[in-house]
Amino acid sequence: MTADMLSDNALTRPMTDPFGRRISYLRVSVTDRCDLRCFYCMSEDMTFLPKADLLTLEELDRLCSAFIHKGVKKLRLTGGEPLVRRNVMGLVRSLSRHLESGALGELTMTTNATQLAKYASELADCGVRRINVSLDTLDPDKFRAITRWGDLDRVLAGIEAARDAGLAVKINAVALKNMNEDEIPGLIDWAHGKGMALTLIEVMPMGEIGEGRIDQYLPLSLLRARLSQSYTMTDLDETTGGPARYVRVAETGGTIGFITPMTHNFCESCNRVRVTCTGTLHTCLGHEDASDLRKPLRASASDEQLSEAIDRAIGLKPKGHDFIIDRRHNRPSVSRHMSVTGG
Ligand code: SAM
Ligand code: SF4
Repeated sequence: MTADMLSDNALTRPMTDPFGRRISYLRVSVTDRCDLRCFYCMSEDMTFLPKADLLTLEELDRLCSAFIHKGVKKLRLTGGEPLVRRNVMGLVRSLSRHLESGALGELTMTTNATQLAKYASELADCGVRRINVSLDTLDPDKFRAITRWGDLDRVLAGIEAARDAGLAVKINAVALKNMNEDEIPGLIDWAHGKGMALTLIEVMPMGEIGEGRIDQYLPLSLLRARLSQSYTMTDLDETTGGPARYVRVAETGGTIGFITPMTHNFCESCNRVRVTCTGTLHTCLGHEDASDLRKPLRASASDEQLSEAIDRAIGLKPKGHDFIIDRRHNRPSVSRHMSVTGG
């Protein structure tokens, strides 16, 4: 075997973790910054990374491409708010070459939709077919309270622009005790009325946000039991390899996903890893584990060291997370905020 063949193998070796899980899904947080400050995600006075610490868009492209060569089929850009990163569309356009070549099956994004009216048609033009939009309420005052200053109309306009551009939109809502718990039926009817799926998420104890989590945490088991009094929900087998479990709602014809990291551990089928905007690889959302990919990325113009660093990190992927929120565990389980990894 020649040296060339050896290095080719290293660059294209599929990523399988110690528990036999094949890694095929990468989430990349392109910025830790955001134009909103959702109270469960960030503290009001967040200190963001110095811009100099961030990978350039070219470096992010190289990093994503290295993962694609190693078997990533689905790539999600997230943040912070991905659409506030300057010239992020340049990255999207450049990554779309992997869709054209067939190496990548799906390029997608999670966004708060504040900038979506501006970018929706360009996203569609780059081959993005589906996006997730995070929206926890349809009440403008509550939206402002949750996001600390957001404008609901702007987000709704962003969602409409995405739909007009032909993007399938899935709404993600975090279930928040005493905040939006009474509004979930309204969100279901609204989303399903527009043909959009809705996914409900349990709040996770990530990062210091200036208050405890116990006052925010609403177990989805409780919410689901309440919803079942008004809706007929049938479990669907459909799984994306991800953490959501789906039901079909007979009354609306739409689907609801439940992401229950707290009440139901979803790790056994985990196929994903996350990279931050500084090139740190986290193989589990609920662990402090971190591997620096920026150094090997910058060490050489070839991807060999990078690929080896990725293999080493995947070899350490933990079996699962151990998030806990109760009166004795009301502190962050993981010190980084969700905006670092983008969920
Ligand atoms: N800014 C974009 C957005 O809001 O869609 C992308 C990044 S945001 C961190 C990704 C998702 O994480 C959002 O759906 C948000 O609601 C969710 N999220 C943030 N903090 C969370 C927490 N502590 N627990 C559960 N979900 C959280
Ligand atoms: Fe920003 Fe998204 Fe976090 Fe809200 S959830 S503060 S929109 S990163």
